[in-house]
Amino acid sequence: MVNNKEGSDAFFTSLYMNDDQLNQIWKNVLGEMETHISPVVFKTWFKNSRLLGITGSQAEIGVTNRATVNFLQKFTEGQLKNSLSNFAGNYIQSITYSVVATAKPAKKDAVPVVDQQLFADPPVRQNNAVSAHSLPSNLNPKYVFSNFIVGNRNRLAYAAAKAVADQPGVMYNPLYLYGGVGLGKTHLMQAVGNEIIRRDPTKQVLYVSCEGFTNDYVASIQRNRPDDFKRKYRSVDVFLVDDIQFMAGKDGTQEEFFHTFNALYQTNKQIIITSDKIPSEIKDLEERLSSRFSSGMIADIQPPDIETRQAILQAKCIERNILLPQEGLAYIATQIESNIRELEGALTTVIGRLEGKSNPTLEEIRQALSGLTVNQPHKKTSFDILSNIVCEQFSVSMDDLRGPCRQKELVRPRQVLMYLLKHELGMTFPSIGRELGGRDHTTAMHAVDKIEKEMKKSNDLLQELSSIKERFYSARA
Ligand code: ADP
Ligand code: MG
Repeated sequence: MVNNKEGSDAFFTSLYMNDDQLNQIWKNVLGEMETHISPVVFKTWFKNSRLLGITGSQAEIGVTNRATVNFLQKFTEGQLKNSLSNFAGNYIQSITYSVVATAKPAKKDAVPVVDQQLFADPPVRQNNAVSAHSLPSNLNPKYVFSNFIVGNRNRLAYAAAKAVADQPGVMYNPLYLYGGVGLGKTHLMQAVGNEIIRRDPTKQVLYVSCEGFTNDYVASIQRNRPDDFKRKYRSVDVFLVDDIQFMAGKDGTQEEFFHTFNALYQTNKQIIITSDKIPSEIKDLEERLSSRFSSGMIADIQPPDIETRQAILQAKCIERNILLPQEGLAYIATQIESNIRELEGALTTVIGRLEGKSNPTLEEIRQALSGLTVNQPHKKTSFDILSNIVCEQFSVSMDDLRGPCRQKELVRPRQVLMYLLKHELGMTFPSIGRELGGRDHTTAMHAVDKIEKEMKKSNDLLQELSSIKERFYSARA
């Protein structure tokens, strides 16, 4: 619902809370929103906004123009409701917007520039924001396709997710995404939801964690309101269920989920499920569920390779407006391999420890990261694994390879290792040189070049390389 109160005296009066309370809540909400979206977007759309009142489960927000109403409804409504609910201590089910004149008229240059393309079709939900059946989607607006970095190990999952966002309920239903922790399952799943709402704000998207679903189900039984539960879950267009492995062993929930699944599936509603395992590997999951989950598209996400890790770090730096040298990012990427959440965490730590230093050197970055990697002494890096395999293969030691000796017996394994560090780990020539006894980057370049040329002529070399690679990948798995 959009009220037009231009010039109204009621502008800053709240209904049931005083202005100070409302201002404090809004300040907290904005603080949280700010961490989810880019500074420019935040400034453009939230600058002159106010929380006008909260009545029961309804909040009223005042903004200065309709473009802002459109934007907030389209892109941030779920997040706003969550955040308002948190800080107001009330479940906020709906938001109304009022276009009001500000006390201090915004300066000309602060007027939001409306993206005509974006708003060519006014969102249909514009006038029914309070409609009773409109559920909060629970989506986090920060999980979108545009900030999801695609690499070799997540390409398939990304492509499937895009296809689903293009045509929900048509191609891959259900879409089942699986992979280890912190590899982007939740991000990708929510990106689909956010994209579907962006294109069509009338679509009901519902994201729940497996626990959320379970809790809701249990509560509905306790309150003896099974119909409410059914109505809620069976009225959605797009149903996103995160970490389904936690449904293992919960028979009642599985039973209910089975019926929910069928009801949605039969009416061509899109279902996306994530898990850390493929369906058949989830213990204590009913066979009829596991076979339903396998009936659509199953896509895996594997730990990112070095290039992707570096690209992710780069993207996160751009997002945060921070400049770190390439080799610094490459170094962080070689040290943190396990998952993207840790990679982000490491970057945050490094940035924090560098305390805004403008041109940090590689050494400073190394130092900033050192405590973190010392905390995982048990964890071998890919560099260590690969070097060990090469040393074993040629019966040499790493000290030999790092040392100055240029005997033929050492030159060849050194070149092979340099080649593999380049091609398998994506290390830069300077860092390869540095790791192998402080050699010059041109030495590493020549070595890699030499191996590449010889590979074309020598079958033995090819076989040697592929057996090393095989051992490397099985050691890492
Ligand atoms: P999962 O659900 O698989 O445990 P998440 O989706 O929560 O992992 O991802 C963990 C963090 O890493 C999130 O902050 C997410 O935004 C980020 N992330 C994961 N994959 C990517 C990617 N390909 N590009 C950019 N950020 C990513
Ligand atoms: Mg997750």
